[in-house]
Amino acid sequence: MIKKVALIMSVLTAFACLCLTPAGAKDVYTNGIDFGFPPFGYVDKAGNPAGFDVECANWIAKEMGFEVKHQPMDWDGIIPALNAKKIDFIASGMSATEARKEIVNFTIPYYEVSQVLVVLKDKTDDFNSFLTTAKKVGSQRGTTSAKFLKEMLATGKYKFKLIEYDSTDLSMEDLKIGRIDGSAMDSSIAYELNKKGAYKIAGSFDVPTEKYGYAVRKGDDKLLNLLNQGLKKLMADPQWQVLKDKYDIH
Ligand code: GLN
Repeated sequence: MIKKVALIMSVLTAFACLCLTPAGAKDVYTNGIDFGFPPFGYVDKAGNPAGFDVECANWIAKEMGFEVKHQPMDWDGIIPALNAKKIDFIASGMSATEARKEIVNFTIPYYEVSQVLVVLKDKTDDFNSFLTTAKKVGSQRGTTSAKFLKEMLATGKYKFKLIEYDSTDLSMEDLKIGRIDGSAMDSSIAYELNKKGAYKIAGSFDVPTEKYGYAVRKGDDKLLNLLNQGLKKLMADPQWQVLKDKYDIH
């Protein structure tokens, strides 16, 4: 009899544990994000994380049964932060370059960009003159844009001066007040800035297009699989177009 009661008690305890832990049992993953990168990542007027990458990651987390937190990070140190386990993945307009693939893994690609130069709307100088005269060209530190501008300068064929910023947003502030003459960036963010009316795209750089993917630590195959499955589901779901329309992404 005692044995039977003990058995019933332990079955009840096990059942109670199962019932009490559903929400707490979910894995929580932290997305490191550049919040100066609209429309992919920014902070809305209420101070909440917003943007295409934020909403896609939230949708995927819900669908795949995990929780996601969005942690603002400096772009320059975002990959070292991932590898130091300060964050778990990067869904933030990150170009999956060959150099980065050596140190992190990427999901399937979800968007393609070219590299452009943004200038003030009233500027009439042609694109090449921005690069071959002593103009000041801004770029966000740690980006693919900053990298190829440095490579261009190393050839000795160009005369521009590279000014690096912590975020693309900050380079735009300096562009507005004439401290720099242009800012180089992904076409995705340039189209968004262009809508504000004060800027225009002076031209595209002659470099290969780049594909965005979510980055995870090498060896973190569990999360890579979750993100890949979630991304595939999202891209096949009507919500993909809804989100693209919402953030005006083509
Ligand atoms: N796509 C660029 C890169 O990966 C810029 C991304 C960003 O600043 N969020 O470097």
